[in-house]
Amino acid sequence: MATESDFKCLRCGHWFKTNYEKNKPEERTCPKCGSNSVRPMPEKKK
Ligand SMILES: [Zn+2]
Repeated sequence: MATESDFKCLRCGHWFKTNYEKNKPEERTCPKCGSNSVRPMPEKKK
């Protein structure tokens, strides 16, 4: 089951949403700069 989560690129600072599957760890890359230095940023507070 995929969940859409927020991710942030540590290289260029670009924020984006992508589907995240817990049981299917796949390499995520920034759609802007192509870096794989991407971290999940779960939005707990607004
Ligand atoms: Zn980037």
